[in-house]
Amino acid sequence: MLGLGGLAGPVAAQAPAITDVIRSGHVPADSLYKLFYVPIEVPAGIAEIRVQEDYNHASGNVLNLGIYGPEGYRPGTTAGFRGWSGGAKTAFFITDQAASTGYVPGPMRPGTWHVLLYPSTIAPAGINWKLTVTLVPGPMGNAFVPAAAAPAVNNRLGWYQGDVHMHTLHSDGRRTQAELVDEAVAQGLDFIVSTEHNTNSANLSWGRYARHNLLVINGEEVTTTAFGHWNALGLDYTTLIDWRSAPADSATVRSTAQVRAVSGLAIINHPFFPDTVNHFRLGVRHFDGIEVWNGRWDARNERALAWWDTLLRQGRPLLAVAGSDTHTAAPSPNQLGRPRTVVQASSLSRAGIMQGLRARRVYLVADRSLRLAFTAHAGGAPAGIGDTLRVAAGQRLDVAFELRGASAGMVTLLGENGALATSLVAPGTTTVRWHPASRPRFLRVEVRTPKGAMLALTNLIWFRYGPR
Ligand SMILES: [Zn+2]
Ligand SMILES: [Zn+2]
Repeated sequence: MLGLGGLAGPVAAQAPAITDVIRSGHVPADSLYKLFYVPIEVPAGIAEIRVQEDYNHASGNVLNLGIYGPEGYRPGTTAGFRGWSGGAKTAFFITDQAASTGYVPGPMRPGTWHVLLYPSTIAPAGINWKLTVTLVPGPMGNAFVPAAAAPAVNNRLGWYQGDVHMHTLHSDGRRTQAELVDEAVAQGLDFIVSTEHNTNSANLSWGRYARHNLLVINGEEVTTTAFGHWNALGLDYTTLIDWRSAPADSATVRSTAQVRAVSGLAIINHPFFPDTVNHFRLGVRHFDGIEVWNGRWDARNERALAWWDTLLRQGRPLLAVAGSDTHTAAPSPNQLGRPRTVVQASSLSRAGIMQGLRARRVYLVADRSLRLAFTAHAGGAPAGIGDTLRVAAGQRLDVAFELRGASAGMVTLLGENGALATSLVAPGTTTVRWHPASRPRFLRVEVRTPKGAMLALTNLIWFRYGPR
């Protein structure tokens, strides 16, 4: 939809005519991952900016696209941010009331705007590019009013099923926000986290797509092809995390601190996806968790799980999450709600779910049919996933695990030294009780199909041992 309503009204006599500004250039092959800012002078009285990007897509060239207003464009600042579509679009528009998905409506201020071009793949011959920027004069209409997602659905304690990783037309997904919400409700999800690549444009309008029992939490997939992807979960709808960082500077420290400042969490995404591109290269010490399960279980997830397990043994208590990374409703390895992250929360609210995630009261399952309970006790009150159980000398440790919804497979109890016990999945409900003879620092459970694919995975119960 083009926000051209203003053109029907009277146009001031001194307003300029519709103008095409043409810019062109060449990105040489040695400019991979360099940021190119193309200045565009925007006079007063412009109501709409349209940008068309043309380049030779042959040989797999990708020239990502975004734009900044006159408030500024320098990395580390976001005041001027007006949108990003990466490699998913080659044309967009912005007015004060509306914009293409991925872009941010708002005041059309005169001054120097900057189109950002970012080459993430360059053929040996380089990229010849051309920008056609159309400046459309007209009066301003009614200002765009953001409609943020409601912060709460209910205030009941429970285990809530969510998907923490997904894309719509606001980045490179194929669904509208309305379609995604409908599918989430049909999939029985209690919450979803919106994680578009490098833009908060969807977060400005989730309130328009509210459904009765579905909580929408704002997030962003901070995406650098050069250094990997990570999810900022639990953002305020106005918060944008700048993706333009490099491992050599302090940007990762700054951007993850920005996430925590709004009570969010910074999660490393698909760290081994694929092996040579988007491989995670930012410091793990800055992050709260790892997406150990991205879409359908595969060898890359197996590597992520092994990495998480290694970090746990080194004493880093990182949260493990599962996300579908869905982009389309069509058949793919990334289907909404498969896998899903199940969180114990005091309420189905942004604050409640984020607190449950922070406390690591979290397990992961392959689909909606699976439920589990995992507890430990030593004579007193049981501890659950995310808790620390105090065990006095001589006390027996009792561990209980219950699984519903699986028909076959293997349950494995693991500690810091690997597998401690295994048990076959029984059809219907599987109940297992263990009494570990050793004194584990932590325990967790994996449930796999007979062929080894993951069905369910818990975060940890921790143990502290003391005197009698
Ligand atoms: Zn990603
Ligand atoms: Zn993604």
